[in-house]
Amino acid sequence: MTLQEHIDTPRVAVVTGSDSGIGRATAVRLARDGFDIGVTWHRDRDGADRTADEVRAQGRRAAVRQADLSDLPAAAAVVDALADELGGIDVLVNCAGTGTATPYLDIGLDTLRQVLDVDLAGPFLCGQRAARRMIRQGRGGRIVNITSVHEHQPRVGAAPYCAAKGGLGLLTQVMALELAEHGITVNSVAPGEIATPMTGQTDTDVHDEERPGIPLGRPGDAREVAAVVAFLVGPESSYVTGASWAVDGGMLRMGPQAGSHLADDSWRRI
Ligand code: NAD
Repeated sequence: MTLQEHIDTPRVAVVTGSDSGIGRATAVRLARDGFDIGVTWHRDRDGADRTADEVRAQGRRAAVRQADLSDLPAAAAVVDALADELGGIDVLVNCAGTGTATPYLDIGLDTLRQVLDVDLAGPFLCGQRAARRMIRQGRGGRIVNITSVHEHQPRVGAAPYCAAKGGLGLLTQVMALELAEHGITVNSVAPGEIATPMTGQTDTDVHDEERPGIPLGRPGDAREVAAVVAFLVGPESSYVTGASWAVDGGMLRMGPQAGSHLADDSWRRI
């Protein structure tokens, strides 16, 4: 397929967890780039409607469905429901995610399973559904899994989250190998600290925030993550698959530097 044919193809992107934060920013950015958008929400119906309104304001179509990814395998059917409504699927962004702030020694099996379902098994099953449809459609596709810097490095209090995101990172690589023959690329995007509800930062101007431990000195804005997703689902990234894209202001590069500069052991506590 030529670049022009790709651009002319009707395009649909499903973005899970797009009722807020990185998911909403991604949905709106991809709408701006010409995609019709499938929106999923968990608890925030109003947030999903706001995302859909912003998509429509870009002149694109939006379809909205509820999905609780701790209810598997049933919840993964949302991918097919949205694809049916929008007439296909060219892009899946697995963005929905959840985590804990609990010491490893205190985490029970129910909590572990809930985080692994939402952050790992959910993307696994949603990815399968999207890929099967992309193969049937015969025009390739793009899958982006939103992981975290904790795909690569640990965090105190986040044992299930780190296990899930690390797993999702390696799952991304297997998907990239197995789906390449069908013209489907699969990459992960690994955000650092991004100003969203997940980090307790809504309506924050990230340029007003100081983060001495992050090389760029501030948190990230959700639109800065969305911009990298937009590249990975657009025609310019056609030879990129199986990679993990850190969007973290350099945070991942701080391991030894931070390790030799922390002045006390408060990091051991949550
Ligand atoms: P957010 O709270 O705005 O979004 C979380 C999303 O996950 C929401 O849309 C919510 O509906 C969805 N979700 C939560 N539980 C769900 C469930 N059981 N079923 C279905 N959906 C569910 O936070 P965000 O920061 O935009 O997070 C988006 C993604 O980015 C997550 O995967 C998160 O792990 C990842 N991430 C965020 C940061 C950060 O600093 N904000 C850093 C690294 C990774």
